[in-house]
Amino acid sequence: MRAITVRPGTANSARLEQVAEPRLAEGALLIRARALGVCGTDREIVSGEYGWAPPGEERLVLGHESLGIVEQAPHDSGFARGDWVVGIVRRPDPVPCPACAAGEWDMCRNGRYTERGIKQRHGYGAERYRLEPEFAVKVEPALDLLGVLLEPASILAKAWDQVERVGHRTGTWQPRTLLVTGAGPIGLLAALFGVQRGLEVHVLDRVGEGPKPRLVRALGATYHAEPLESLNGLAPDVIMECTGAPTLVSAVLGRSAACGVVCLTGVSAGGRLVELDTGGLNRTMVLENHAVFGTVNANRAHYRAAAAALAKADRDWLGGLISRRVPLGHWREALEHRPDDIKVVIEFA
Ligand code: BGC
Repeated sequence: MRAITVRPGTANSARLEQVAEPRLAEGALLIRARALGVCGTDREIVSGEYGWAPPGEERLVLGHESLGIVEQAPHDSGFARGDWVVGIVRRPDPVPCPACAAGEWDMCRNGRYTERGIKQRHGYGAERYRLEPEFAVKVEPALDLLGVLLEPASILAKAWDQVERVGHRTGTWQPRTLLVTGAGPIGLLAALFGVQRGLEVHVLDRVGEGPKPRLVRALGATYHAEPLESLNGLAPDVIMECTGAPTLVSAVLGRSAACGVVCLTGVSAGGRLVELDTGGLNRTMVLENHAVFGTVNANRAHYRAAAAALAKADRDWLGGLISRRVPLGHWREALEHRPDDIKVVIEFA
């Protein structure tokens, strides 16, 4: 069977090649791939900046945003042939730490977790792969290809879960306004979740026209293609930073309303220095009870919450997030970044 593999740490080593069928030890469910979403993490792995092959191997099967159809399932597994499923990305660390032991691998304390297609475990970018039933999540077949949005949506389900826990450190917290920075797939899904919660949603991005402003306006949210500094009148109760761009990250700190919550979701590269009035920022954050936190990954409960959020979202709107579909044979094109790209998906036959 064919799989997209990379040699982690080596730039441009990705290729489509023949690999062995997945071993039964990798999970009782045999899955036939239907689609694979591509994200910034995949591009980082392909450029040699991130990613780890399984122990003792040189290459890693790429891909963590999956959508597949069950080919074989033991009858007591809770799954049946023909079910549409998405694979959970992370597996708990072997110690396990208290979080992983409690099924909260997204909050792993010792960093020894593994991730399919990213860290020491082969990913979902293969024609067939295996899943442990407890790491497979069923998706509504009616969603069809849109089911591939479940993994990115799970990141937002977790982010929102955490924002609400932090916000409710005061029993009187009733958020009204949300600012999202970045209108990529994560930012747009953050905005969707905000709208589903009845918030007044603002999305800021560099791009002035094209699908991003259209999708934001279609949600009933406000789109801003201007610098954050010009949104002076806006004091959001929640800010979701979805770019990881150092200047925006520093700009959102101290920008929320009193008792506001700033959630950082973007993974950035280190090494870029930005000037910051730390004293002034500290003063604002202390005197106004601001909270800032980072979030990564998702556990099973978040995948379920994400599945529910996708099920009640407008299908045409979700369809607008998938800006390009590329057949497996042309997989390289999926890794290129084109100006109007939002989510690019590789389709398996
Ligand atoms: C994935 C997460 C993962 C993170 C860090 C993201 O792109 O969606 O599941 O934990 O990268 O590896």
